[in-house]
Amino acid sequence: MRAELAQAVREGLVVPEGLIAHGRGEAFDYLLGERTTPSARRAERAAAQWLWNARRPVVSVNGNVAALAADAIAGLARARPGLGVEVNLFHRTPARARAIARVLSASGVRTVLGVRPTARIPSLPSDRAYVDAEGIYRADVCLIPLEDGDRAHALQRRGQRVISIDLNPLSRTSRVADLPIIDELTRALAGIRSALPALRGRPMGNGRFPAFEAQRARDEALRAMAQWPRRP
Ligand code: ATP
Repeated sequence: MRAELAQAVREGLVVPEGLIAHGRGEAFDYLLGERTTPSARRAERAAAQWLWNARRPVVSVNGNVAALAADAIAGLARARPGLGVEVNLFHRTPARARAIARVLSASGVRTVLGVRPTARIPSLPSDRAYVDAEGIYRADVCLIPLEDGDRAHALQRRGQRVISIDLNPLSRTSRVADLPIIDELTRALAGIRSALPALRGRPMGNGRFPAFEAQRARDEALRAMAQWPRRP
């Protein structure tokens, strides 16, 4: 993963800050023993259900996500028809947005939203506020892997249901998410995807969201991390 990200920086897909964020994630993953905890597995199953039941679900994709998980994002979009895939960048330049869209298209994503943003989230500074009017702006459920806390908070304040993927249970993103998945990006996306087939046959887009205990999930992650040195 490190090699892929370093290469992605050279190609202009990932910014140097993305490498630092990855290092933060790795540190937390070591504390989890680099495995999906039973609690995260439950969160992934719940996330699959929320995405299935959403009327307008969208997954947001930044440089790190495109570099590490473009195929997994395409797989998720195939498994959940109607899932919007939107480029959403903290450090936005038109060239980088296009590069990310190209990687997603090459992985099989048919429509990539957010390349030319058409709306703004009002409470955010301009360069971080741009979204797609047909995507995140009107989504009822947003899956936001590796997101920044301000934007996660802004979406949550607008009443949009936020599912985060972030290894840090203490980040603002994990703390404001309605459904925080505290797991590594590629494991989390695979976990969500593997839970989707069981939902086939149930009505998609019915707007029903089973309750999820976000605080409990964060506490369980912290407990798992605290126990790590005692495991064999
Ligand atoms: P916040 O703004 O939410 O308080 P932050 O300042 O750390 O957190 P970012 O740099 O945007 O914000 O966050 C990226 C987050 O993604 C970090 O919390 C990091 O731990 C996490 N992260 C990085 N790589 C991965 C990965 N591969 N899988 C899961 N989480 C990751």
